[in-house]
Amino acid sequence: MSTTKVLEKLSEEQKLEKESLNLFFSTQTVIKKALDKLGYSNEVFELLKEPIRMLTVRIPVKMDDGSVKVFTGFRSQHNDAVGPTKGGVRFHAEVNEEEVKALSMWMSLKCGIANLPYGGGKGGIICDPREMSFGELERLSRGYVRAISQIVGPTKDIPAPDVYTNSQIMAWMMDEYSRLREFDSPGFITGKPIVLGGSQGRETATARGVTICIEEAVKKKGIVLQGAQIVIQGFGNAGSFLAKFIHDAGAKVIGISDAHGALYNPEGLDIDFLLERRDSFGTVTNLFTNVITNQELLEKECDILVPAAVSNQITAKNAHRIKASIVVEAANGPTTLEATKILDKRGVLLVPDILASAGGVTVSYFEWVQNNQGYYWSEEEVDEKLRKVMVESFETIYQTSQAHQVDMRLAAYMVGIKKPAEASRLRGWV
Ligand code: NAD
Repeated sequence: MSTTKVLEKLSEEQKLEKESLNLFFSTQTVIKKALDKLGYSNEVFELLKEPIRMLTVRIPVKMDDGSVKVFTGFRSQHNDAVGPTKGGVRFHAEVNEEEVKALSMWMSLKCGIANLPYGGGKGGIICDPREMSFGELERLSRGYVRAISQIVGPTKDIPAPDVYTNSQIMAWMMDEYSRLREFDSPGFITGKPIVLGGSQGRETATARGVTICIEEAVKKKGIVLQGAQIVIQGFGNAGSFLAKFIHDAGAKVIGISDAHGALYNPEGLDIDFLLERRDSFGTVTNLFTNVITNQELLEKECDILVPAAVSNQITAKNAHRIKASIVVEAANGPTTLEATKILDKRGVLLVPDILASAGGVTVSYFEWVQNNQGYYWSEEEVDEKLRKVMVESFETIYQTSQAHQVDMRLAAYMVGIKKPAEASRLRGWV
């Protein structure tokens, strides 16, 4: 039975429960609502409800002990009517096909929100990089590129970093692709080291974008950023840079966490101290004894809560207990749809993932533009261009939410889905 038919048969309560449990399902649900609000036909939904292409690959890797381990990887391309598809590659034990598909749909939405000439893509490999050596990770990264090489490329589909992948992994992937094609292809992938064609400001882009969203959100809520109390879940690329930027902007970071636990101090944490001690996987709490759980941290008293780790953290179970008046989703999918409704009813301003974390893909786009033109910008130029995109995107979505009397998530979907829908219509696909 199709997802839409299943949805029709469920009661409102069951629907919400089911939606919340399934990222793919909930993404389809909100895309449907957004297209209906915009007045598009069901044919447009039929096209956009699933990726146009989904490749599953098996990657044999020689391990250091001489054995061969076969990993499963995915690459999903949601819609390429606007332009080539774009999106990160995730290395995680819990990667699965539906998650990758949903994340590629979100990338279409993010690109639409930031007005980038891309559709959405996403990739992932089921693995635990923390248990792999440098050499094993390199062989896995290169094997993945060989396995997906036919459907990717600088004008087809451009990967980037995501959870547990970094600029070194991007460098290996770019090198493998360039070897396969027999010419240097820096525009094949973004998030590369600077010396290999990476952009200034790329590493910090997601966090800069989240910071700009926080600055815009506090204005709407009448909160003064100086001294505002902030809790951040996740201390990886997104969470740690955000902690630094928002601390430097005068806010008080009172809680941070990683996969092992959370640190909390209402007087404010020593962010520079924590940044110096975090490892490359974003772990720091293992050095402390006074650690609380991630769930306890989310419910602490604060002005702004930023989930910047993994999905499904704010659910119907804990949404009533969230004390923050602003929730800014740096992670993908940290709040379920049911929890979104609860927060919205309680007057919490929720800045949705597809807007808040669009800084990463925006500077990825800048990196690709610089690779294509062979001319590179300063960090100030990149940050200034990023600020312009983020402020405009925030304002457009906020105004859409006010004009249509819908929550910020639905407003973001409306703004984001419009571009692939229009491009597909104009190409004569629907
Ligand atoms: P990362 O791998 O650098 O860091 C992840 C952090 O989350 C680490 O501190 C890790 O310890 C923590 N973590 C992992 N599992 C956890 C759990 N179960 N509970 C609490 N913490 C946990 O990842 P990142 O790049 O910072 O990405 C974080 C989120 O932001 C992801 O959802 C990602 O999709 C999203 N995002 C990142 C970017 C980017 O450019 N980095 C762009 C867009 C979206």
